[in-house]
Amino acid sequence: MQNTNNSQSNVTSFDWVTLYNAENSLEANIIKGLILNAGIECQIKGEILQGAMGEIPFEQTQVSVQVYAIKERHAREILVNYQQVKQSAPDWVCPNCNEHNGSTFDFCWSCGTLKNDKSE
Ligand SMILES: [Zn+2]
Repeated sequence: MQNTNNSQSNVTSFDWVTLYNAENSLEANIIKGLILNAGIECQIKGEILQGAMGEIPFEQTQVSVQVYAIKERHAREILVNYQQVKQSAPDWVCPNCNEHNGSTFDFCWSCGTLKNDKSE
């Protein structure tokens, strides 16, 4: 009789688990920034495809954000918050340094570049 409620018994606390499958490298880096901001280590998997091919548009890149299994729960809380903000207003990414900025920021918090509203 199998009596385990841990179907992933081979996953240890320090294995990487996929937190989020991003639509593109840009979004993956947004997530990564949020996670890192919270003091959680994370890595982006799949981004190397973009670098290797060079000319592939962001949209065609499969990218996932991974965190340590032990941090997954905390990271998911951050992710939920991100997705709520994303639904209410679009965030933007600095064209100068690729830093993620909340929709309420008119200037990049990292390098001070003015938000470009002409993206549409
Ligand atoms: Zn910037």
